[in-house]
Amino acid sequence: MKFSSYAHKFDSDSSTVQLMQDLGHADEARKHGPVYMLGGGNPAHIPEIETVFQQALMALVSDSQAFGKMVGEYDAPQGNKGFCDALAALLSDNFGWALTAENIAVTNGSQSSFGLLFNALGGPHEDGTFKKILLPLLPEYVGYSDVGLYDEPLFEGKLPTIDKLENGFFKYRLDLEHLQIDNRYGAVCVSRPTNPTGNVITDDELQALAVRCERAGVPLIIDGAYGLPFPGIVFGEATPLWNENIILCLSLSKLGLPGLRTGIVVGHPKLIELIRNANAINSLAPGRVGPQLAERLLNGGQMLDLCKTTITPHYRSAMEFAVSRVKETMQDIPVWIHQPEGALFIWLWFEGLPIKSSELYKKLVERGVYVIAGEHFYPGLEEECQHRYECIRVNYAAGSAVVAEGIEIIADTVREIYASN
Ligand code: PLP
Repeated sequence: MKFSSYAHKFDSDSSTVQLMQDLGHADEARKHGPVYMLGGGNPAHIPEIETVFQQALMALVSDSQAFGKMVGEYDAPQGNKGFCDALAALLSDNFGWALTAENIAVTNGSQSSFGLLFNALGGPHEDGTFKKILLPLLPEYVGYSDVGLYDEPLFEGKLPTIDKLENGFFKYRLDLEHLQIDNRYGAVCVSRPTNPTGNVITDDELQALAVRCERAGVPLIIDGAYGLPFPGIVFGEATPLWNENIILCLSLSKLGLPGLRTGIVVGHPKLIELIRNANAINSLAPGRVGPQLAERLLNGGQMLDLCKTTITPHYRSAMEFAVSRVKETMQDIPVWIHQPEGALFIWLWFEGLPIKSSELYKKLVERGVYVIAGEHFYPGLEEECQHRYECIRVNYAAGSAVVAEGIEIIADTVREIYASN
């Protein structure tokens, strides 16, 4: 079969495809021995949360009118009106932002929000320029890497400064001194908390970024897939930020609903109109199971309570457990842990690792442990950077036994590598 050049954008060797394929390969590998799935981005199965979703879904299913609409009618292309109203009210009440449903659109997962936003704001413009998407704080979410539809590279990524902290922790910080935001860029994007590192850029860093973006007339995209108001996987203080120059992307996935593929964009009405039109053209309408379910939880006031009382504490204790296992098993290894401030991951830096992180990844797969090699998380980096080959991302959502054994195998493998090189 002969495909057009458009099809090459969907080559199998893209990092995102490999990452998602790993979830399937791990299932296959389970037939041959134990598997420790510390890769991928699946959230935890939290029984209390799943019970709430199950009960809310059962209530929806037994309400014949709501059920009939949910499965039997296309939703509005901008997304479910009741859900958009409920979310606008929640964001306005909690954060004082002046929002209405006109500022909110629903997509089929935030991955698809990013595909649309990056290609609509970046790429060729009427003035003849090709505008890039600036990622000001690498490492950054691997899923952005492959969404560009143009031949020219869509991303420009900037390395952070590395702040070595006490007790074997470190933190990446925005290198504001070397960051120039101007009309070369169609947008600036940062995930907060960051996938892969669990970094939460500080309120000051975010403010500085927002001010520079506004001055340059460049929209700032904040990817809040793990952040506030839901799922709220943030362990310290962090103030959410929105204004008409900011595009906030949210998702129901990390609440525990990745199967419902629901993404949310909060932005200027003009942008929301674009998303509405793209939804209509590409898929007629976004799915409505996620929004109808979420609307019930938002209106019933349960959503934020669930995050505060169950989701955040669950991940905090999973994070503390994973960190304690790394400290215990890697005492003799030159490892640094990125200060875990949110999301589902710990980011380990093996200083001076004698092999590349992608080779370490392969050695770990042979032992049944799936992680993600650090080198993939550098979209748009133009300079050489040894550091990217010395890091791995470990998802700690899988449950304590799997995390403990997986980390022990990582420790043994890395120890052998240092010893034999
Ligand atoms: N943004 C970040 C930082 C992510 O980690 C993910 C998924 O892992 C996404 C966006 C996409 O999530 P979804 O398409 O499930 O909403």
